[in-house]
Amino acid sequence: MDNWTELIDDLVAGRWFNQETQEMAKVPFESIVIKKNLAGIEVDLLADVGFNKNLVMVCDQTTYEALGRRIKEAFKATGELDVLVLESPHADLRYVEDLRKKIATYDGVVAVGSGTINDVCKHSTMLNGQRYAVFATAGSMNGYTSTTASMRLDSGLKISLPSHAPAGFFVDLEVSAEAPAYLAASGFGDCLCRSVAQVDWWLSHRLLGSLYLQSPYTIQEKDEPELNSRAGNLAIGDIEATGYLHRVLTLGGLGVSFSGVSNSGSMGEHQISHYLDCFAGDRHPGTLHGQQVGVASLTMARLQSKLLRSDKPPTLKSTIIDLPDMERRMGKEIAKQCRDEFVKKSFEGASLEQANERLQEIWTELKAEVQPFLISVDEMEEMLKSSGGPVNYKQLGVDADLYRDAIVHCREMRNRFSFLDIAADAGLLEDFASEEMNCA
Ligand SMILES: [Zn+2]
Repeated sequence: MDNWTELIDDLVAGRWFNQETQEMAKVPFESIVIKKNLAGIEVDLLADVGFNKNLVMVCDQTTYEALGRRIKEAFKATGELDVLVLESPHADLRYVEDLRKKIATYDGVVAVGSGTINDVCKHSTMLNGQRYAVFATAGSMNGYTSTTASMRLDSGLKISLPSHAPAGFFVDLEVSAEAPAYLAASGFGDCLCRSVAQVDWWLSHRLLGSLYLQSPYTIQEKDEPELNSRAGNLAIGDIEATGYLHRVLTLGGLGVSFSGVSNSGSMGEHQISHYLDCFAGDRHPGTLHGQQVGVASLTMARLQSKLLRSDKPPTLKSTIIDLPDMERRMGKEIAKQCRDEFVKKSFEGASLEQANERLQEIWTELKAEVQPFLISVDEMEEMLKSSGGPVNYKQLGVDADLYRDAIVHCREMRNRFSFLDIAADAGLLEDFASEEMNCA
């Protein structure tokens, strides 16, 4: 591919007409540049978004070596770029408070890095009322083009906080391709959820009448097969594979951005990953978001295919909300917050009757409607494996008990309806989770 930002340019410039909403899609980014190599144009890229003077570059030792040093050199002539090398940054609010003070006097903040560095810079600059731009050093996640920041609260809960968009997002594919292979595999895991998230979202839409949007999928439908067919080349740092990875990640983020909801790429599989991040405590293996999402996507694909194989819909019973058990696992305070979310999607009485009737009505159609969304479990697993990513909880290094809990209980955390919910309310989820323990 010659032009890595085809379509992305149109979206950024407000030139892409969304057939679904009958209006031009709007996203809050001024400049997105993805090129094989950005050497020599770093200063210009930043100048284009108004970053000329009094800048600070924020990186860690690794990303400084990967790209930061080159950017610093590029600013040698003007001397307008200071360098702040973070030591083991972590995405929590205390760290952000500390960083805010260190960067407060600058006109612009240039983040150089991926997950955590992007999140802490994004959130600190939002709180400080500063602008920021980011140079990616790896395609490990799609947070570059999201307006939320993933932060851990003092309670241990990890949440997505409303934040802001980078003015500029820049990818040097050669730099990204040189990053350790597990990072691209993680980004691929985060992309792999598309099919299962779409199936979950469609179920929610058909069963509950909630909003569903096709346009976030429309913009990535050409690139996903290109990426998938190159999954095995990610690990060897292939430029084409890395380019498609960044395109799919970026388009995924832009879809969330213009549609205003994250459902297109975050349903049951993200909840499983989220449960691990919030409640693993000492048992968390230190795996990345995308690695967990990749494994959880396979779990969701197996659950969906198991349920959808049946000619008849599952019969739901009243939703069981076991608060004492939630308190035991989550602590009192978080359990209460989760219960308040969980209760919103619980069925009993009339709502239960209605849901069961509706499932009877739509089941045959639903099975047919989701066919175009699907990728077979075997194919998903093969691609994830070839990308170099873990494909089951054992390879993630997560305890069986913990992963089992995540499958069975993650739905308690968010009022977002998925196949986990119908499986649980039908009394099928615990057995399914036990079967998953044997998939390794
Ligand atoms: Zn994700």
